[in-house]
Amino acid sequence: MLDELLDKWALRFPPDPALKGSYVGRFAPSPTGPLHMGSLVAALASYLDAKAHQGRWLVRMDDLDQPRCVPGAGEAILASLTALGLRADGEVVWQSRRHAAYRDAFEKLRKAGAVFACACTRREIADSRLHPAERGRETIYPGTCRNGIAPGRAPRAWRMRVDQTVTRFNDRWQGEITQDLASEAGDFVLLRADGQWAYQLAVVVDDAAAGVTDVVRGADLIDSTPRQIFLQRALGLPTPRYLHVPVVTNAHGEKLSKQTEAAPLDLAPSAIKVAIQQAAKHLFG
Ligand SMILES: [Zn+2]
Repeated sequence: MLDELLDKWALRFPPDPALKGSYVGRFAPSPTGPLHMGSLVAALASYLDAKAHQGRWLVRMDDLDQPRCVPGAGEAILASLTALGLRADGEVVWQSRRHAAYRDAFEKLRKAGAVFACACTRREIADSRLHPAERGRETIYPGTCRNGIAPGRAPRAWRMRVDQTVTRFNDRWQGEITQDLASEAGDFVLLRADGQWAYQLAVVVDDAAAGVTDVVRGADLIDSTPRQIFLQRALGLPTPRYLHVPVVTNAHGEKLSKQTEAAPLDLAPSAIKVAIQQAAKHLFG
C-alpha cells in the first residue's frame, strides 16, 4: 500500500537527485488529542517525500504549549503511527525537554539586539488603532515597546524585531509565497508572558538541530513560514525546502482539529487501509 503511494508521490514531486541520501524530513504533531485525518495527511505526505528521496523521516512532539497538551496524547499518536506502518528513523524528540536549546538561541538573538522586551498586555495590543490591519484573529503588534518600555512598566514578553524586507520562498506545492513581515506579521513573540517559548523559535531551533532539509506540513502553517525563515537568517541557520499540503476541512469548511471536534481515526487492524486510502485521496485526488 505505502509502496504504491510512494510511486504516485514521486511522480507528482520528483525527488531531487542532489538530496538522495541526505534528505531529512519530519512530522511534528502537537499532542493535543489523538491522530485525526488532518494530521494523518501531514504525516503521510512528509513520510512519502522522505522515502521518495531515500531519506530519513523523523518524528517530533511539539508539546511546548503545555496547557493545550493532553496527557498521554503523544504516546497515543506514536502508537497510531506504528499501527499505520509509519516508522520514525531515529528517536522521537519532545520539545518540552529542549528548553536549554531555545534559551541558547534566544540569548544569541538578544545579544545581537534582535529582540526587545514588551510590556503590553493582550488587551492593549488588541485596543491599539495604530495598525488596525488584522490577519486572521491575530492583531499585528503596533510596535509600542520597540524603543524601550514605558517607565513604571515591567517586561512581560520578548519580541523579535522584524524589518522591512519582504520574505519570499518557493513552496513545492503552493508556489511562490511572499510576506511583508512588518505589515503582515509584525514584531512577533519569542518568549511569552507566561514564560513559554514561542512555537516559531522552537521549530526553527529543532529543525536545524535535526538537520531537517525539507519541511512537509499542513498549509495552515504557511503563514508562519516567513517568520521562521526570518529567524533562521537571524540565527545563521540554513532554510529548508517547504511543501505545504492543503488542509483537511470538515463539512463546514473548518480545519480539522481538536477544536472542531475532528474524529479520532479508527486504527483497528481492519480499518488501517481505509484510513490511509482516505489520506491518499486528499493528497492525490
Ligand atoms: Zn509592547
